[in-house]
Amino acid sequence: MMNKTSLSFSLYSGIAALSLLISGCATNASRAPVETRSDNPAISVAVNEKAIDSSISAKSQEERVQFIILHYTAIDQPTSLRVLSQKEVSAHYLVGDEDPVKVWQLVPENRMSYHAGLSEWKGYSRLNASSIGIEIVNLGFKDTPEGRVYFPFPQAQIDRVIQLVRDISARYQIRPEYILGHSDIAPQRKSDPGPMFPWKQLADAGLIPWPNADEVALRQPAYEVQLPDVKWFQQKLAQYGYGVPQTGMLDEATRSVLVAFQTKYRPAKFDGMPDAETAAMLDTLLASLKAK
Ligand SMILES: [Zn+2]
Repeated sequence: MMNKTSLSFSLYSGIAALSLLISGCATNASRAPVETRSDNPAISVAVNEKAIDSSISAKSQEERVQFIILHYTAIDQPTSLRVLSQKEVSAHYLVGDEDPVKVWQLVPENRMSYHAGLSEWKGYSRLNASSIGIEIVNLGFKDTPEGRVYFPFPQAQIDRVIQLVRDISARYQIRPEYILGHSDIAPQRKSDPGPMFPWKQLADAGLIPWPNADEVALRQPAYEVQLPDVKWFQQKLAQYGYGVPQTGMLDEATRSVLVAFQTKYRPAKFDGMPDAETAAMLDTLLASLKAK
């Protein structure tokens, strides 16, 4: 019969042997071409060693993160921080608007945050699962007797957003046309980050596609003579990525998508009406993507 001392000794030596084994595996695992991720390293190592051979890596694979989605919070910084950390909505990052501008990471990038809701782009849906969400503190707009007034974004805040987007898109090799606003992926429900958000600065930083002004000017006169029909706009918008009905009618849903497109690329006028400049911008953008 074992006494207490020998029992605890044999238990100890067993654990020591196991931990030696595990640390040995860990070294091997870190050399494997595809890293196995798990919240519990001991479990992933044990599985690798006993049953799963990860030495062959498939050629067909890509990052799970495909999109970056930008939002404004429509509430102030302390409230944004509270809501996004304690309520049923969240984002991976929150970019503040107070000086100096602070950036919070509220959700690790390998986990899903709840920022996109019902959403669609280029046939992908439920974009929470495949995106990094960035909320930007900005009050959005207020309605006054003179009309709707939008709040500007401080330049220091935009600089941080650009820095963050550049970093994330480089790490996941995100396609420029997949860096989007909430209004792009949910145009029927959402209008953020709104017309004051300077998308052009992201384009100038090489992060998103932008319709070349000279090419737009070249294409526009023909469209002024003959404006394409609604079906044409619906097809081009869908080709670009928007979820848009193909009805041939200028219905509410189509106008909402036109508003989203115009707000982003021509914030001076976003009435949701088809016009020659919008047609020329769409055409130019699509041609530039095709040329790649
Ligand atoms: Zn949003």
